Amino acid sequence: MANHFSTPSACSSPPHFLAQKAQVLNLIILGPPGAGKGTVAHFLAKKLSIPHISTGNLLRSNAHQNTKLGKTALVYTERGHFVPDELIFNMLFERIEQKDCTKGHILDGFPRTLSQAEIYQKRVEALSKAMVIHLDISDQEVMKRLAYRLICSVCNAPYNLITAPPKISMTCDQCLTKLAQRTDDQKEVVASRLAIYHKNADCLIDYYAKKNILKTVSCNRPIQEIVDEIFSKIDLI
Ligand SMILES: [Zn+2]
Repeated sequence: MANHFSTPSACSSPPHFLAQKAQVLNLIILGPPGAGKGTVAHFLAKKLSIPHISTGNLLRSNAHQNTKLGKTALVYTERGHFVPDELIFNMLFERIEQKDCTKGHILDGFPRTLSQAEIYQKRVEALSKAMVIHLDISDQEVMKRLAYRLICSVCNAPYNLITAPPKISMTCDQCLTKLAQRTDDQKEVVASRLAIYHKNADCLIDYYAKKNILKTVSCNRPIQEIVDEIFSKIDLI
């Protein structure tokens, strides 16, 4: 009698959901500043062979290439205004129609607001699988990572006043440059960036949880562990 229960062959790379279902997968990385969204997105993009798209980079590359959208966006950024959602979505949707996005794409730090999330989902959800990876990290840990972070302005060597201080106080080990904190990383600035993040993120988390596409991953551990856990969750969808 034929065996109907044959064991599937082992498959390590690419993950079986891509090989078997050939479906489009859209990942959104959600998390506060300092959670490591960019790093996680970079690892996932490499492993899944789908592009990592940051709306900040999209804006910059459109401006750099002098596209019509880029020129319009510059009018806002030069005056210190936010670029309107409509313009960002035009750039984003134009980008995800490109050939390298046929298997999906990874967004990092976008959508930021509930209304952006609704517009994005409306556009992509009928055609693809979506998953939101929520990088969970306490405010206290973010403060520790960012408010104590120092980067040498000359050689880019990274330091942390608590976890990886320079050998000589406020001086780069590599090139002896005096270290200073980035304005972005000062305690009060980090606290206000966190407050803005939470104001929007709580609604977003709720919205994605109701859609049943939210996966929360604790990110207070080495990057490889985080990425491995995300993969185990992606494989189940
Ligand atoms: Zn240095």
